[in-house]
Amino acid sequence: MLTALTIHELSARFRSGEATPSQAAREYLDRIAALDPKVKAYLTVVPEAALGQAAAADARFRSTAPLGPLDGIPLAVKDVFCTRGVETTCGSKILKGFVPPYDATVIARLRSAGAVLLGKLNMDEFAMGSSTENSAFFTTRNPWDLSRVPGGSSGGSAAAVAADLAAATLGTDTGGSIRQPAAFSGTVGFKPTYGRVSRYGLIAFASSLDQVGPFAKDVADTALMLQAIAGHDPMDSTSATIPVPDYAEALRLDVKGLRVGIPAEYFIDGLDAEVEAAVRAAIATLEDLGVRTESVSLPHTEYGLAAYYVIAPAEASSNLARYEGVKYGLRLPGARDLIDMYSRTRGAGFGAEVKRRVMLGTYALSAGYYDAYYGQAQKVRTLVLRDFQEAFKRVDVIVAPTTPGVAFKMGEREDPLQMYLNDVFTIPVNLAGLPGLAMPAGFTRAGLPIGLQIIGKAFDEATLLRVAKAYEAATPWRSRKPELAS
Ligand code: GLN
Repeated sequence: MLTALTIHELSARFRSGEATPSQAAREYLDRIAALDPKVKAYLTVVPEAALGQAAAADARFRSTAPLGPLDGIPLAVKDVFCTRGVETTCGSKILKGFVPPYDATVIARLRSAGAVLLGKLNMDEFAMGSSTENSAFFTTRNPWDLSRVPGGSSGGSAAAVAADLAAATLGTDTGGSIRQPAAFSGTVGFKPTYGRVSRYGLIAFASSLDQVGPFAKDVADTALMLQAIAGHDPMDSTSATIPVPDYAEALRLDVKGLRVGIPAEYFIDGLDAEVEAAVRAAIATLEDLGVRTESVSLPHTEYGLAAYYVIAPAEASSNLARYEGVKYGLRLPGARDLIDMYSRTRGAGFGAEVKRRVMLGTYALSAGYYDAYYGQAQKVRTLVLRDFQEAFKRVDVIVAPTTPGVAFKMGEREDPLQMYLNDVFTIPVNLAGLPGLAMPAGFTRAGLPIGLQIIGKAFDEATLLRVAKAYEAATPWRSRKPELAS
Protein backbone atom coordinates (compact mmCIF):
# COMPACT_ATOMS: atom_id res chain seq x y z
CA MET A 1 0.00 0.00 0.00
CA LEU A 2 1.50 3.29 -1.11
CA THR A 3 -0.62 5.15 1.48
CA ALA A 4 1.37 3.59 4.32
CA LEU A 5 4.66 5.05 3.07
CA THR A 6 6.41 8.22 4.17
CA ILE A 7 7.16 10.96 1.66
CA HIS A 8 10.79 9.90 1.32
CA GLU A 9 9.81 6.24 0.81
CA LEU A 10 7.16 7.16 -1.76
CA SER A 11 9.51 9.48 -3.61
CA ALA A 12 12.11 6.70 -3.83
CA ARG A 13 9.50 4.43 -5.47
CA PHE A 14 8.65 7.14 -7.98
CA ARG A 15 12.32 7.59 -8.82
CA SER A 16 12.94 3.85 -9.20
CA GLY A 17 9.81 3.47 -11.33
CA GLU A 18 8.18 0.99 -8.92
CA ALA A 19 5.23 3.35 -8.53
CA THR A 20 3.84 6.47 -10.17
CA PRO A 21 2.32 9.63 -8.72
CA SER A 22 -0.99 8.70 -10.39
CA GLN A 23 -1.06 5.35 -8.60
CA ALA A 24 -0.34 7.07 -5.30
CA ALA A 25 -3.01 9.71 -5.85
CA ARG A 26 -5.58 7.03 -6.80
CA GLU A 27 -4.74 4.96 -3.71
CA TYR A 28 -5.14 7.97 -1.48
CA LEU A 29 -8.43 8.98 -3.13
CA ASP A 30 -9.77 5.42 -2.75
CA ARG A 31 -8.72 5.32 0.90
CA ILE A 32 -10.37 8.69 1.52
CA ALA A 33 -13.59 7.41 -0.08
CA ALA A 34 -13.49 4.28 2.10
CA LEU A 35 -12.35 5.67 5.44
CA ASP A 36 -13.03 9.37 5.60
CA PRO A 37 -16.77 8.87 6.24
CA LYS A 38 -15.54 7.52 9.61
CA VAL A 39 -12.63 9.85 10.33
CA LYS A 40 -14.17 13.00 8.76
CA ALA A 41 -10.86 14.73 8.25
CA TYR A 42 -11.76 16.33 4.91
CA LEU A 43 -14.12 19.24 4.26
CA THR A 44 -13.42 19.16 0.51
CA VAL A 45 -11.80 16.55 -1.73
CA VAL A 46 -10.76 17.53 -5.28
CA PRO A 47 -10.17 14.21 -7.10
CA GLU A 48 -10.10 15.55 -10.65
CA ALA A 49 -7.63 18.32 -9.92
CA ALA A 50 -5.48 15.90 -7.91
CA LEU A 51 -5.38 13.32 -10.70
CA GLY A 52 -4.49 16.05 -13.20
CA GLN A 53 -1.56 17.19 -11.05
CA ALA A 54 -0.48 13.57 -10.54
CA ALA A 55 -0.49 12.93 -14.31
CA ALA A 56 1.73 15.97 -14.80
CA ALA A 57 4.11 14.56 -12.17
CA ASP A 58 4.07 11.14 -13.93
CA ALA A 59 5.30 12.86 -17.06
CA ARG A 60 8.15 14.55 -15.18
CA PHE A 61 9.30 11.23 -13.73
CA ARG A 62 9.07 9.58 -17.16
CA SER A 63 11.25 12.31 -18.63
CA THR A 64 13.64 11.83 -15.64
CA ALA A 65 13.34 15.42 -14.45
CA PRO A 66 11.32 15.38 -11.21
CA LEU A 67 11.10 18.70 -9.35
CA GLY A 68 12.41 17.42 -6.02
CA PRO A 69 11.42 15.36 -2.99
CA LEU A 70 7.76 16.51 -2.98
CA ASP A 71 7.15 15.91 -6.67
CA GLY A 72 4.01 13.79 -7.11
CA ILE A 73 3.41 13.48 -3.34
CA PRO A 74 -0.30 13.58 -2.32
CA LEU A 75 -0.80 16.25 0.37
CA ALA A 76 -3.74 18.03 1.93
CA VAL A 77 -4.04 21.32 3.82
CA LYS A 78 -6.09 22.86 6.60
CA ASP A 79 -9.02 24.85 5.23
CA VAL A 80 -7.44 28.04 6.62
CA PHE A 81 -5.27 28.50 3.51
CA CYS A 82 -6.53 30.27 0.42
CA THR A 83 -6.47 27.86 -2.51
CA ARG A 84 -7.14 29.21 -5.97
CA GLY A 85 -10.36 27.82 -7.37
CA VAL A 86 -11.03 25.57 -4.34
CA GLU A 87 -13.60 26.53 -1.72
CA THR A 88 -11.99 27.85 1.49
CA THR A 89 -14.26 28.06 4.55
CA CYS A 90 -11.93 28.27 7.58
CA GLY A 91 -14.42 25.92 9.23
CA SER A 92 -17.05 28.68 9.24
CA LYS A 93 -20.50 29.11 7.73
CA ILE A 94 -19.64 32.75 7.12
CA LEU A 95 -17.14 31.71 4.42
CA LYS A 96 -19.26 28.93 2.91
CA GLY A 97 -18.98 29.25 -0.85
CA PHE A 98 -15.87 31.48 -0.77
CA VAL A 99 -13.57 30.49 -3.63
CA PRO A 100 -10.27 32.41 -3.40
CA PRO A 101 -8.86 33.88 -6.61
CA TYR A 102 -5.28 33.20 -5.46
CA ASP A 103 -3.10 30.69 -3.59
CA ALA A 104 -1.51 31.34 -0.21
CA THR A 105 2.28 31.49 -0.57
CA VAL A 106 2.72 28.12 1.15
CA ILE A 107 0.25 26.54 -1.29
CA ALA A 108 2.03 28.10 -4.26
CA ARG A 109 5.34 26.75 -2.93
CA LEU A 110 3.95 23.23 -2.52
CA ARG A 111 2.51 23.37 -6.04
CA SER A 112 5.79 24.52 -7.54
CA ALA A 113 7.51 21.65 -5.69
CA GLY A 114 5.21 19.32 -7.67
CA ALA A 115 2.93 18.25 -4.80
CA VAL A 116 -0.53 16.88 -5.54
CA LEU A 117 -3.28 18.60 -3.53
CA LEU A 118 -5.97 16.11 -2.45
CA GLY A 119 -8.24 18.56 -0.63
CA LYS A 120 -8.96 20.78 2.35
CA LEU A 121 -9.09 19.62 5.96
CA ASN A 122 -11.50 20.24 8.80
CA MET A 123 -10.69 22.64 11.61
CA ASP A 124 -12.20 24.56 14.48
CA GLU A 125 -13.95 27.66 13.15
CA PHE A 126 -11.31 30.34 12.46
CA ALA A 127 -8.80 28.06 14.23
CA MET A 128 -10.36 28.72 17.62
CA GLY A 129 -10.42 25.52 19.60
CA SER A 130 -8.61 22.38 20.68
CA SER A 131 -10.86 19.59 19.39
CA THR A 132 -12.43 20.48 15.97
CA GLU A 133 -15.77 20.45 17.81
CA ASN A 134 -16.00 24.16 16.93
CA SER A 135 -16.07 23.40 13.20
CA ALA A 136 -19.33 24.73 11.77
CA PHE A 137 -19.67 21.50 9.75
CA PHE A 138 -18.77 18.40 11.79
CA THR A 139 -16.26 17.05 14.29
CA THR A 140 -13.25 15.10 13.07
CA ARG A 141 -12.63 11.78 14.87
CA ASN A 142 -9.39 10.60 16.38
CA PRO A 143 -8.19 7.65 14.25
CA TRP A 144 -6.87 5.90 17.39
CA ASP A 145 -10.35 5.93 18.98
CA LEU A 146 -13.26 7.23 16.94
CA SER A 147 -15.17 8.32 20.06
CA ARG A 148 -12.40 10.80 20.87
CA VAL A 149 -11.36 14.15 19.40
CA PRO A 150 -8.21 14.46 17.28
CA GLY A 151 -7.31 17.74 18.98
CA GLY A 152 -7.51 21.08 17.28
CA SER A 153 -7.73 23.46 15.77
CA SER A 154 -5.81 21.59 13.02
CA GLY A 155 -7.62 18.34 13.91
CA GLY A 156 -8.33 17.41 10.28
CA SER A 157 -4.66 17.86 9.37
CA ALA A 158 -3.56 15.61 12.23
CA ALA A 159 -6.20 12.92 11.69
CA ALA A 160 -5.49 12.77 7.93
CA VAL A 161 -1.83 11.96 8.56
CA ALA A 162 -2.56 9.51 11.40
CA ALA A 163 -5.08 7.61 9.26
CA ASP A 164 -2.91 7.66 6.09
CA LEU A 165 -5.43 9.86 4.28
CA ALA A 166 -2.59 12.13 3.04
CA ALA A 167 1.19 11.69 2.96
CA ALA A 168 1.60 14.91 4.95
CA THR A 169 -0.47 18.02 5.64
CA LEU A 170 -0.21 21.68 6.62
CA GLY A 171 -1.78 23.26 9.67
CA THR A 172 -1.44 26.46 11.66
CA ASP A 173 -0.48 27.04 15.27
CA THR A 174 -1.53 30.17 17.15
CA GLY A 175 -1.55 28.70 20.64
CA GLY A 176 -0.87 25.02 20.03
CA SER A 177 -3.05 24.04 17.09
CA ILE A 178 -0.32 22.01 15.39
CA ARG A 179 1.42 20.53 18.44
CA GLN A 180 -1.68 19.61 20.46
CA PRO A 181 -3.40 17.62 17.66
CA ALA A 182 -0.05 16.05 16.73
CA ALA A 183 0.21 14.85 20.34
CA PHE A 184 -3.37 13.53 20.31
CA SER A 185 -2.96 11.73 17.00
CA GLY A 186 0.53 10.25 17.24
CA THR A 187 2.00 12.28 14.38
CA VAL A 188 4.89 14.71 14.09
CA GLY A 189 3.71 18.34 14.12
CA PHE A 190 6.00 21.32 13.81
CA LYS A 191 5.36 24.99 14.52
CA PRO A 192 8.33 26.93 13.14
CA THR A 193 9.63 30.24 14.54
CA TYR A 194 7.24 33.16 14.05
CA GLY A 195 8.27 34.66 10.71
CA ARG A 196 9.98 31.54 9.34
CA VAL A 197 7.05 30.72 7.06
CA SER A 198 4.94 33.19 5.09
CA ARG A 199 1.41 33.90 6.33
CA TYR A 200 0.33 35.47 3.03
CA GLY A 201 -2.99 33.94 2.02
CA LEU A 202 -3.51 32.38 5.44
CA ILE A 203 -6.84 33.46 6.94
CA ALA A 204 -5.72 35.43 10.00
CA PHE A 205 -6.72 34.54 13.54
CA ALA A 206 -4.19 36.33 15.81
CA SER A 207 -1.58 37.89 13.56
CA SER A 208 1.21 38.24 16.13
CA LEU A 209 0.95 34.52 17.00
CA ASP A 210 -0.15 32.63 13.86
CA GLN A 211 2.40 30.38 12.19
CA VAL A 212 2.16 27.73 9.47
CA GLY A 213 3.72 24.29 9.84
CA PRO A 214 3.61 20.66 8.72
CA PHE A 215 2.19 17.41 10.06
CA ALA A 216 4.06 14.34 8.87
CA LYS A 217 4.53 10.62 9.45
CA ASP A 218 8.13 11.01 10.55
CA VAL A 219 10.82 13.57 11.26
CA ALA A 220 12.53 13.31 7.86
CA ASP A 221 9.23 14.14 6.13
CA THR A 222 8.70 17.03 8.54
CA ALA A 223 12.06 18.44 7.47
CA LEU A 224 11.16 18.05 3.77
CA MET A 225 7.85 19.86 4.25
CA LEU A 226 9.45 22.69 6.22
CA GLN A 227 12.16 23.06 3.58
CA ALA A 228 9.50 23.53 0.90
CA ILE A 229 7.50 26.23 2.72
CA ALA A 230 10.13 28.16 4.74
CA GLY A 231 11.81 31.38 3.73
CA HIS A 232 11.22 35.03 3.07
CA ASP A 233 8.16 36.16 1.14
CA PRO A 234 7.89 39.76 -0.06
CA MET A 235 4.09 39.43 0.31
CA ASP A 236 4.36 39.04 4.11
CA SER A 237 6.21 41.86 5.85
CA THR A 238 6.62 39.74 9.01
CA SER A 239 8.33 36.90 7.16
CA ALA A 240 12.01 36.78 8.09
CA THR A 241 14.90 37.27 5.68
CA ILE A 242 17.08 34.88 7.72
CA PRO A 243 18.50 32.20 5.39
CA VAL A 244 16.90 28.74 5.50
CA PRO A 245 19.45 25.98 6.19
CA ASP A 246 19.41 22.51 4.66
CA TYR A 247 17.23 20.63 7.16
CA ALA A 248 17.87 17.17 5.70
CA GLU A 249 21.57 17.83 6.30
CA ALA A 250 20.88 18.73 9.95
CA LEU A 251 19.21 15.35 10.51
CA ARG A 252 22.49 13.58 9.81
CA LEU A 253 24.21 15.10 12.87
CA ASP A 254 24.04 13.22 16.16
CA VAL A 255 23.02 14.78 19.45
CA LYS A 256 25.97 13.91 21.68
CA GLY A 257 26.85 16.79 23.96
CA LEU A 258 23.73 18.85 23.20
CA ARG A 259 22.27 20.51 26.28
CA VAL A 260 18.60 19.80 26.98
CA GLY A 261 16.60 21.85 29.49
CA ILE A 262 13.77 20.34 31.53
CA PRO A 263 11.37 23.04 32.79
CA ALA A 264 10.02 22.36 36.29
CA GLU A 265 6.91 24.44 35.51
CA TYR A 266 5.79 21.87 32.90
CA PHE A 267 5.61 19.00 35.37
CA ILE A 268 2.79 20.28 37.55
CA ASP A 269 -0.36 19.09 39.29
CA GLY A 270 -2.90 18.10 36.70
CA LEU A 271 -0.32 16.47 34.45
CA ASP A 272 -1.59 12.97 33.68
CA ALA A 273 0.60 10.30 35.32
CA GLU A 274 0.99 8.28 32.12
CA VAL A 275 1.95 11.41 30.17
CA GLU A 276 4.54 12.31 32.78
CA ALA A 277 5.99 8.80 32.81
CA ALA A 278 6.29 8.69 29.00
CA VAL A 279 7.92 12.12 28.81
CA ARG A 280 10.37 11.26 31.58
CA ALA A 281 11.20 8.00 29.77
CA ALA A 282 11.81 9.99 26.58
CA ILE A 283 14.19 12.27 28.47
CA ALA A 284 16.05 9.20 29.75
CA THR A 285 16.30 7.92 26.16
CA LEU A 286 17.82 11.24 25.09
CA GLU A 287 20.32 10.97 27.94
CA ASP A 288 21.28 7.51 26.69
CA LEU A 289 21.92 9.12 23.31
CA GLY A 290 24.46 11.43 24.91
CA VAL A 291 22.63 14.70 25.58
CA ARG A 292 23.24 16.50 28.85
CA THR A 293 20.04 17.40 30.68
CA GLU A 294 19.61 20.09 33.28
CA SER A 295 16.61 21.71 34.87
CA VAL A 296 15.60 25.18 33.72
CA SER A 297 13.05 27.55 35.14
CA LEU A 298 10.32 29.32 33.17
CA PRO A 299 8.66 31.10 36.09
CA HIS A 300 6.04 33.05 34.11
CA THR A 301 4.55 29.95 32.48
CA GLU A 302 1.47 30.08 34.68
CA TYR A 303 0.53 33.55 33.33
CA GLY A 304 0.86 32.58 29.70
CA LEU A 305 -2.64 31.22 29.31
CA ALA A 306 -4.27 34.36 30.72
CA ALA A 307 -2.15 36.65 28.53
CA TYR A 308 -2.94 34.55 25.45
CA TYR A 309 -6.69 34.68 26.09
CA VAL A 310 -6.50 38.49 26.00
CA ILE A 311 -4.09 38.88 23.07
CA ALA A 312 -5.57 36.22 20.75
CA PRO A 313 -9.23 37.35 21.08
CA ALA A 314 -8.17 41.01 20.77
CA GLU A 315 -6.37 40.38 17.49
CA ALA A 316 -9.12 38.05 16.30
CA SER A 317 -11.83 40.64 16.91
CA SER A 318 -9.94 43.00 14.65
CA ASN A 319 -9.14 40.38 11.98
CA LEU A 320 -12.71 39.08 11.85
CA ALA A 321 -14.23 42.54 11.36
CA ARG A 322 -13.88 41.98 7.61
CA TYR A 323 -16.59 39.28 7.53
CA GLU A 324 -19.68 41.43 7.33
CA GLY A 325 -21.52 40.12 4.29
CA VAL A 326 -20.05 42.56 1.77
CA LYS A 327 -16.83 41.06 0.46
CA TYR A 328 -16.86 37.35 1.32
CA GLY A 329 -19.15 34.34 1.58
CA LEU A 330 -22.44 34.57 3.42
CA ARG A 331 -24.85 37.52 3.30
CA LEU A 332 -28.21 37.31 5.05
CA PRO A 333 -31.11 38.78 3.05
CA GLY A 334 -33.96 40.98 4.28
CA ALA A 335 -31.94 43.62 6.13
CA ARG A 336 -33.39 47.08 6.83
CA ASP A 337 -30.07 48.84 6.32
CA LEU A 338 -26.33 48.27 6.18
CA ILE A 339 -25.78 47.86 9.94
CA ASP A 340 -28.70 45.44 10.13
CA MET A 341 -27.17 43.43 7.26
CA TYR A 342 -23.83 43.26 9.09
CA SER A 343 -25.35 42.09 12.33
CA ARG A 344 -27.68 39.55 10.74
CA THR A 345 -24.84 38.10 8.68
CA ARG A 346 -22.41 37.93 11.60
CA GLY A 347 -25.13 36.64 13.92
CA ALA A 348 -25.96 33.76 11.58
CA GLY A 349 -22.47 33.18 10.17
CA PHE A 350 -20.32 32.89 13.29
CA GLY A 351 -20.51 30.08 15.84
CA ALA A 352 -20.60 30.45 19.63
CA GLU A 353 -16.85 30.29 20.28
CA VAL A 354 -16.06 32.88 17.61
CA LYS A 355 -18.70 35.23 19.01
CA ARG A 356 -17.35 34.75 22.53
CA ARG A 357 -13.86 35.72 21.36
CA VAL A 358 -15.01 38.69 19.29
CA MET A 359 -16.84 40.01 22.36
CA LEU A 360 -13.86 39.41 24.67
CA GLY A 361 -11.46 40.96 22.21
CA THR A 362 -13.59 43.99 21.41
CA TYR A 363 -13.98 44.63 25.12
CA ALA A 364 -10.25 44.26 25.80
CA LEU A 365 -9.43 46.75 23.04
CA SER A 366 -12.12 49.30 23.85
CA ALA A 367 -11.19 52.84 24.91
CA GLY A 368 -10.17 52.97 28.56
CA TYR A 369 -9.50 49.21 28.76
CA TYR A 370 -6.71 48.85 26.23
CA ASP A 371 -3.89 49.49 28.73
CA ALA A 372 -5.47 47.40 31.47
CA TYR A 373 -5.91 44.33 29.25
CA TYR A 374 -4.09 44.22 25.91
CA GLY A 375 -1.20 46.40 27.14
CA GLN A 376 -0.85 44.39 30.32
CA ALA A 377 -0.98 41.07 28.46
CA GLN A 378 1.78 42.26 26.12
CA LYS A 379 3.95 42.98 29.17
CA VAL A 380 3.35 39.45 30.46
CA ARG A 381 4.27 38.20 27.00
CA THR A 382 7.64 39.94 27.29
CA LEU A 383 8.23 38.21 30.64
CA VAL A 384 7.43 34.81 29.12
CA LEU A 385 9.88 35.53 26.28
CA ARG A 386 12.59 36.59 28.76
CA ASP A 387 12.18 33.33 30.68
CA PHE A 388 12.97 31.42 27.50
CA GLN A 389 15.88 33.72 26.61
CA GLU A 390 17.42 33.12 30.03
CA ALA A 391 16.98 29.35 29.71
CA PHE A 392 18.44 29.30 26.20
CA LYS A 393 21.64 30.88 27.48
CA ARG A 394 22.31 27.51 29.09
CA VAL A 395 20.60 24.91 26.89
CA ASP A 396 20.13 24.16 23.17
CA VAL A 397 16.57 22.83 23.37
CA ILE A 398 13.87 22.40 26.00
CA VAL A 399 11.93 19.14 26.34
CA ALA A 400 8.51 18.95 27.98
CA PRO A 401 5.05 17.41 27.61
CA THR A 402 2.90 18.82 24.79
CA THR A 403 -0.41 18.61 26.67
CA PRO A 404 -1.41 17.77 30.25
CA GLY A 405 -3.51 14.80 29.07
CA VAL A 406 -4.32 12.65 26.05
CA ALA A 407 -7.18 12.81 23.53
CA PHE A 408 -10.49 13.29 25.31
CA LYS A 409 -13.97 12.07 24.40
CA MET A 410 -16.13 14.13 22.08
CA GLY A 411 -18.47 16.35 24.07
CA GLU A 412 -16.48 15.94 27.26
CA ARG A 413 -15.13 19.50 27.55
CA GLU A 414 -18.18 21.70 27.30
CA ASP A 415 -16.81 24.35 29.64
CA PRO A 416 -14.64 26.70 27.51
CA LEU A 417 -12.17 27.18 30.38
CA GLN A 418 -11.59 23.42 30.58
CA MET A 419 -10.92 23.44 26.84
CA TYR A 420 -8.50 26.39 27.14
CA LEU A 421 -6.44 24.51 29.77
CA ASN A 422 -5.34 22.06 27.08
CA ASP A 423 -2.94 24.67 25.79
CA VAL A 424 -0.96 25.57 28.94
CA PHE A 425 2.19 23.92 27.63
CA THR A 426 1.95 25.07 24.03
CA ILE A 427 0.86 28.72 24.38
CA PRO A 428 4.08 30.10 25.96
CA VAL A 429 5.98 29.01 22.84
CA ASN A 430 3.68 31.12 20.63
CA LEU A 431 3.88 34.09 22.98
CA ALA A 432 7.67 33.90 22.67
CA GLY A 433 7.56 33.25 18.89
CA LEU A 434 9.76 30.16 19.21
CA PRO A 435 9.78 26.91 17.22
CA GLY A 436 8.14 23.88 18.84
CA LEU A 437 7.76 20.29 17.67
CA ALA A 438 5.45 17.58 18.98
CA MET A 439 6.00 13.88 18.35
CA PRO A 440 4.95 10.63 20.00
CA ALA A 441 6.64 9.80 23.30
CA GLY A 442 4.66 6.59 23.62
CA PHE A 443 1.14 5.37 24.26
CA THR A 444 -1.12 5.05 27.28
CA ARG A 445 -2.22 1.58 28.45
CA ALA A 446 -5.47 2.25 26.59
CA GLY A 447 -3.48 2.78 23.38
CA LEU A 448 -3.72 6.56 23.03
CA PRO A 449 -0.72 8.56 21.80
CA ILE A 450 1.27 10.75 24.21
CA GLY A 451 3.07 13.84 22.90
CA LEU A 452 6.63 14.90 23.57
CA GLN A 453 7.34 18.59 22.96
CA ILE A 454 10.72 19.93 21.90
CA ILE A 455 11.17 23.71 22.02
CA GLY A 456 14.05 25.47 20.27
CA LYS A 457 15.78 28.81 20.00
CA ALA A 458 14.38 31.32 17.52
CA PHE A 459 15.19 30.26 13.93
CA ASP A 460 17.04 27.18 15.14
CA GLU A 461 14.61 24.66 13.68
CA ALA A 462 17.58 22.58 12.55
CA THR A 463 18.71 21.65 16.08
CA LEU A 464 15.16 20.85 17.03
CA LEU A 465 14.72 18.49 14.09
CA ARG A 466 18.03 16.86 14.88
CA VAL A 467 16.94 16.05 18.46
CA ALA A 468 13.58 14.80 17.19
CA LYS A 469 15.28 12.58 14.62
CA ALA A 470 17.66 11.07 17.17
CA TYR A 471 14.78 10.34 19.52
CA GLU A 472 12.70 8.81 16.72
CA ALA A 473 15.57 6.54 15.68
CA ALA A 474 15.87 5.27 19.26
CA THR A 475 12.17 4.42 19.68
CA PRO A 476 9.76 2.09 17.90
CA TRP A 477 6.74 4.44 17.69
CA ARG A 478 6.56 4.47 13.90
CA SER A 479 5.69 0.76 13.91
CA ARG A 480 2.33 1.43 15.58
CA LYS A 481 -0.68 2.42 13.48
CA PRO A 482 -4.33 2.97 14.31
CA GLU A 483 -6.58 0.05 13.37
CA LEU A 484 -9.14 1.40 10.96
CA ALA A 485 -11.09 -1.21 9.09
CA SER A 486 -13.09 0.15 6.18
N1 GLN B 1 -6.65 26.14 21.27
C1 GLN B 1 -6.14 27.47 21.15
C2 GLN B 1 -7.27 28.43 20.90
O1 GLN B 1 -8.37 28.01 20.84
C3 GLN B 1 -5.11 27.53 20.06
C4 GLN B 1 -5.68 27.60 18.71
C5 GLN B 1 -4.66 27.69 17.63
O2 GLN B 1 -3.47 27.46 17.85
N2 GLN B 1 -5.13 28.07 16.47
O3 GLN B 1 -7.05 29.61 20.74
